Amino acid sequence: MSTHRIDRKRKIRQRRILLTGITFLVLLLIITAIVLLVFKPFSTAVKSPQSSSTTAQTASKSSQKSSSPAQSATSASTSSSSSTSTNKIPASASKNDWQLVLVNLKNPKPEMNPDLVTLGHIQVDARIAQSAEEFLAAAQTIDPNVHLISGYRSVAYQTELFNGYVQQTMNENPGWTQAQAKAEVMKTSQPPQSSEHETGLAMDMSAIDELNAEDPATASAIAAMAPEYGFVLRFPSWGTSSTGIDYEDWHFRYVGVENAKYMTEHQLTLEDYLSKLDN
Ligand SMILES: [Zn+2]
Repeated sequence: MSTHRIDRKRKIRQRRILLTGITFLVLLLIITAIVLLVFKPFSTAVKSPQSSSTTAQTASKSSQKSSSPAQSATSASTSSSSSTSTNKIPASASKNDWQLVLVNLKNPKPEMNPDLVTLGHIQVDARIAQSAEEFLAAAQTIDPNVHLISGYRSVAYQTELFNGYVQQTMNENPGWTQAQAKAEVMKTSQPPQSSEHETGLAMDMSAIDELNAEDPATASAIAAMAPEYGFVLRFPSWGTSSTGIDYEDWHFRYVGVENAKYMTEHQLTLEDYLSKLDN
């Protein structure tokens, strides 16, 4: 019996040693795991400059491969945008293109007599009639009240309109000279031969019959879709210094789809865009 007891005690001791060993091992594993978890971020942080330099090398290699580094840089920055990306000025763009004709105070034009088509109660150049109709229909999906307000205006009609505005302004402001009244009117209306409306390529379109009275969200949504139909918002708030005309939420100008997309994407007014063209 006594030898049995000794054996039991020995077994118990052995078990205790084994248990302590296992506990120690488990604790060691846990500590190792904690140490690894805590220090891993630091080790990657140290590694990161090296890895980023590797990506930089890969990037420079890939840019060497492509023909133009500038082109690849732009395409990389806009790679998320769709296939309609317009990083290059359209090859067809020309200062002599009928779509890009410039009529403003500095570039007056005598009567242009465009071939006209009637849309509702306005007229536009026949070449843009379909685009104008499609643009109107698209804008009406944003606000069903959107309608065409003004299109082609002959030089004779613009003369009548402009002189009428000047007279009205003088009546409203007794004591003003004609020059003062003209200056006031020219903030929103151009003198004869200087209005883009004589081209037949411009149209005023809004949900409201008053300039800059449309809901700004509606106005900006319509302006954003305009290039799809070849139109640009001709007098954006950011373009006043180059156009010389204050913001107009309703005045859209047809320039062709490719030009319109490029101009809008690169924030260029027609004046800015034409200055970039060589011929
Ligand atoms: Zn207009």
